[in-house]
Order: sequence, then structure tokens, then C-alpha cells
Amino acid sequence: MFFFYQDTDFSFSFLHNCLINIIKRLVKYLETAIEMLGDTGISAELKAIYDFYNTVQSDFDYFKDEFSLSCPDGCGECCAHFIPDVTQSEALLLAARVLFGEKKSLLQERLKASYPSKIVCPFFDLWSDHHCMVYSSRPLICRMFYSCASSGKDGSLAFGGCRFCKESRSISSEELSSSDCNIHPMGDYGEMLEVLPGNSPATELLPEAVTKAINRIGYALNLLFPENSSLIAEDQGA
Ligand code: SF4
Ligand code: SF4
Repeated sequence: MFFFYQDTDFSFSFLHNCLINIIKRLVKYLETAIEMLGDTGISAELKAIYDFYNTVQSDFDYFKDEFSLSCPDGCGECCAHFIPDVTQSEALLLAARVLFGEKKSLLQERLKASYPSKIVCPFFDLWSDHHCMVYSSRPLICRMFYSCASSGKDGSLAFGGCRFCKESRSISSEELSSSDCNIHPMGDYGEMLEVLPGNSPATELLPEAVTKAINRIGYALNLLFPENSSLIAEDQGA
């Protein structure tokens, strides 16, 4: 969650700089991972999920702008009571973020402490931007929460707001259908995710899935760099 200052210009430049830094961090860790993993299937899966997130995120951002949706400052209730289910490639991107991004040791400790899954996402952190330590790599379900419509029983789109936040607003199907917004229902984005390289409809809770993905990357690196077994030194316990 960003903290917005009263001065609008400063708020904008602060927000802009934060976003640029987030994008830079993502590209850097991903570039490192892909460079080390070379021409492997893992690299292809990482590129595919990264491109997918970039594409769908623009839909979610447009939707939020169109209907002036924003989370109240300081709110992070959704993450405090939630552990996402993730696909294999989503877990892989998170694993790359843990291994090749900032705060590697802390993130690994968080994962270990929450394995097997507890009731709070291991990456939830009150003091991080958006209360998430891996925000730029967060799974699809976290991106869609309070940013995407769902399909009603009659097939029409509707938006019910955030169940954790009394201040959040809902949007009727009439409002949605009369807007220029081309948001798809959540299920459609889920189906797009399932067909990415390495994915299937199967999901697993984040701590288990990311731990396995870390071990998968570690195994690949051990094959690629047999002389340097300390590359992924931490035993993730899966
Ligand atoms: S999605 Fe809901 S609970 Fe989560 S930060 Fe936004 S308003 Fe708060
Ligand atoms: S990955 Fe981040 S956004 Fe998703 S539940 Fe965990 S802390 Fe929240």
C-alpha cells in the first residue's frame, strides 16, 4: 500500500518513482535468473508468466482507473488472512524472485516458517509497499483481488467490492456494461494462465508450490554448474 501525501505533484512523482523501482527490480532479478538458467524450459516458463502478468495487469489497471477503485491507505486485510493458490509457473516466478532478488535470506526464512501452509501468506509484511514483499511478482489471484469483475449466474459481469473492507464499493452489471472497459471475468484470466508453458489447471498453496519451484531451480543450476554446488545452498525442506 502506498502512502499518499497531501501535495498532489509530490504524490504523483513519489508513486511514479516507486513503480519505476518496482519494474527495475523485477527486470533485474528476472534477467539474472534467465541468464543463469540459459536456454532451459525454466527460462521459457519465466518469460511467459512475466509477459502474461504485464498484459493482464494493464486490464486490471484500466478497470480500477475507470471506476476510481483504490484500496484505503494502510489496508492489507486481504493478505493478512489469505494464502494464494498458485500454478507451477506462478510459483516459478516467485521462486526466481526469492533466489535472485532482494532480501533472499529473509524471504527464504519466511517460506520455511510457513511450510506447511499456515493461515497467513509468508510474503505479507506490514512495512513493505502494498504490504507484500514480492509485490511485482505476486500471483494472478492477488492481482485480481479488488481489480477485476466476476461473472454472475446469468453470465453478466458484476463487481462485488472487497469483502474485507467496508469502504469498498461494488459496481452493478448495468454500470459495467455501459462503460468502455473491456475487463474479462476472473475465470477467463484463470484459463489464460492455465495454458501458459509449464502450467495446467492444477494449483497448490503458495508455500508448498514455491518451495518446490526453488528446489526445481536449484536442481537445474546444479546440473548447469556442477562445480558450484553452493549456488542454492539453502535446503528448502520439500
Ligand atoms: S483488496 Fe480489500 S482488504 Fe485488500 S488492501 Fe484492498 S481494500 Fe484492503
Ligand atoms: S503474495 Fe503478496 S499480495 Fe499475494 S497474498 Fe501474499 S502478501 Fe498478499
